[in-house]
Amino acid sequence: MAHFIIPGLDLPAHSIFCIGRNYAEHAKEMGHLPPSEPIVFLKPLSALCTDGSLINLPPQSTDIHHEVELVLAIGKSGKNISESDAWDHIAGFGIGIDFTARDLQKQAKDKGQPWSIAKGFDHFAPVSNFIKLNAGESIESLELKILVDGELRQHGNTDHMIFSIPELVSFLSTIFTLTEGDLIFTGTPEGVSAVQAGNNIEAILGNDLATLTVSISK
Ligand code: MG
Repeated sequence: MAHFIIPGLDLPAHSIFCIGRNYAEHAKEMGHLPPSEPIVFLKPLSALCTDGSLINLPPQSTDIHHEVELVLAIGKSGKNISESDAWDHIAGFGIGIDFTARDLQKQAKDKGQPWSIAKGFDHFAPVSNFIKLNAGESIESLELKILVDGELRQHGNTDHMIFSIPELVSFLSTIFTLTEGDLIFTGTPEGVSAVQAGNNIEAILGNDLATLTVSISK
């Protein structure tokens, strides 16, 4: 596969880090307490796709959920980044969907196995155009919404994250060398639900700051 260029940033995507249960109400709807430190998993680059994509549902699952999330793009590499330096390492932000095969994830959880398959199919990481973050800028209080065939399914605000953006960047960088082009899916608010063949899905960040429209193939 050719390099995936992060839309709006002209940067090839490098790794895809994702944070689980970063909103208390979503942790609750999944039957979990809020975590005491970030829950981290990765997706393959082959899961990425852009605004306007047609999503093919994999035949291995019968219960695929949308999870709308703020996505960060790293623009400056670093290890052991302090929270106060975190914003300097972020090139931009957009909105994405962490598609999840919930049935396969439950089977994996029950067996103590990783989530890679449940989270990693082709098209399971669509992302919008990214908005550049200039030096000295930060972001806060961004609304996240997702509509399925026009019906509002999730409506949250990034202020409700358990671990803030600087905390996530700093924590991840204690483990991984964060690298230019890394993407970080920062977790989803409550309201996750199943998608069906033929659905049209629209994810919106803030006041139309970034939008992402995808369709589920029939
Ligand atoms: Mg998620």
